[in-house]
Amino acid sequence: MDTQLLKYGLRNDQPTHISEVPSGLKCNCKCPHCGSPLVARKGMQREHHFAHHGPSSCKHAIETALHLVAKQALEKSSVIKLPAVLVTFSTYYAATIQIAPESMYQIDSIRLEKRVGDIVPDLIATIQNRELFIEIFVTHQVDEKKRNKITKLGISAIEIDLSNAPRDLDFDSVSELVVNGIKNKRWIYNVKKEKEYKKIMSQTIRKHSITRGLASHVDLCPKSIRVWQGQPYANIIDDCLYCEHCLNMGYNMSYVDCNGHLEKQTNSEL
Ligand SMILES: [Zn+2]
Repeated sequence: MDTQLLKYGLRNDQPTHISEVPSGLKCNCKCPHCGSPLVARKGMQREHHFAHHGPSSCKHAIETALHLVAKQALEKSSVIKLPAVLVTFSTYYAATIQIAPESMYQIDSIRLEKRVGDIVPDLIATIQNRELFIEIFVTHQVDEKKRNKITKLGISAIEIDLSNAPRDLDFDSVSELVVNGIKNKRWIYNVKKEKEYKKIMSQTIRKHSITRGLASHVDLCPKSIRVWQGQPYANIIDDCLYCEHCLNMGYNMSYVDCNGHLEKQTNSEL
């Protein structure tokens, strides 16, 4: 389908919209992907667009242009909306904790592609004296390898998903998506979240499973769900699995990380 047209060329290394340049080769633009000269087609028949000068097999010009325009839009913005920061747990009944709401943040400074360690994020913003990596996903999603590197560096990072965005969006629409959009943004790593998660997990007590007959138990259940000869215990499958205090489970339910004792303390203070 030939419905998508290249609307941006690179002029002096800046993504430049077709409306801002004279027609023909005088546009003085290069392909954002392959770097070959572009012709600005500004005739009466078709919507104005850029085409490669001469035959070309360049298939990714439009995607690359969108990626560049997204970066440019953020570079020009003084704010960015960021998603809420949530601490979640691997178990189903543990409650999610919100530590920061979805909010608009002031950008103190922002710079393009600079190497940090051995990764090059699309943009690095400074917000409230902290660095934030911003990755823009048009065709390449942040993979496990890159996520691990970011985690190792310990710098917060978000990914903005433009993979389903129309490729020929104008600057204002791209800007709206990358600056004010929220559904298309996700945390890849968040420093506050990791800190809070570690803090919460450090307060749990690891209870190793004890096999009794066919059942797997943990002893000293703080909620005293079951009692045997005066000793409280819980059945991992029947109790812990459905308990909001079970924040993590070991492989094959070999242990549970339980924070039920914290609630017990609070209650006894009342
Ligand atoms: Zn090209």
